[in-house]
Amino acid sequence: MAAIGRDLADVSAVFLTHEHTDHIRGAGPLTKKYDLPLYGTQGTLDCMEKHLPPGARWNTLRREDEVTLGDLRVEAYPTPHDGRESVAFVVHYGEKRLGHATDLGCVDMTVLEKMRHCDALLVESNHDPKLLSAGPYPWPLKKRVGGDRGHLSNQACAGLLHQVKHERLQTVVLMHLSEVNNRLDLVERHARQGLEGCSARLHISRQEAPTPLFSLA
Ligand SMILES: [Zn+2]
Ligand SMILES: [Zn+2]
Repeated sequence: MAAIGRDLADVSAVFLTHEHTDHIRGAGPLTKKYDLPLYGTQGTLDCMEKHLPPGARWNTLRREDEVTLGDLRVEAYPTPHDGRESVAFVVHYGEKRLGHATDLGCVDMTVLEKMRHCDALLVESNHDPKLLSAGPYPWPLKKRVGGDRGHLSNQACAGLLHQVKHERLQTVVLMHLSEVNNRLDLVERHARQGLEGCSARLHISRQEAPTPLFSLA
């Protein structure tokens, strides 16, 4: 946040998708320091309660709930992932829509429907199946990551983009890249193929640095 000139104290709330460590590790310290309200499903809460400080402002979401926060409407939807009760979000601001889909093993009808008609998309492009298969992960983990309740491959991400792209789509951010089982050139090549004919800007988010801020017209 500091790197993009913003302050964590200005954050209104944090929405958690599921309980896997890469997603919840910071939630306890963050809410303790800034008293931020947290939103997540009961399944997520059940798995992470011990990570929360006493008095944490937890708000339970059902998997298809909508929450209004100031000018924003945040809509949760269920994702095919091996968390207890995982979700992703569509954020509405007036007529504008930002669709988010990370930590999902496949693109099901719900994901497809939620990602349509968005002005911006934040989509997982986690791994290249060949690099995953040849890489250092133990076999059960390879099976998990590549499975229908694991993570979205570059190819599956491109397939999703191909199906939902439209002329008003302005920005696509590729997210949740594996540092071990992926390469930036592959991520970009597949996404560009999926987006062929669409003028949306493409950003690739990295673990070590923030993307630039972008605005939606
Ligand atoms: Zn996960
Ligand atoms: Zn994750």
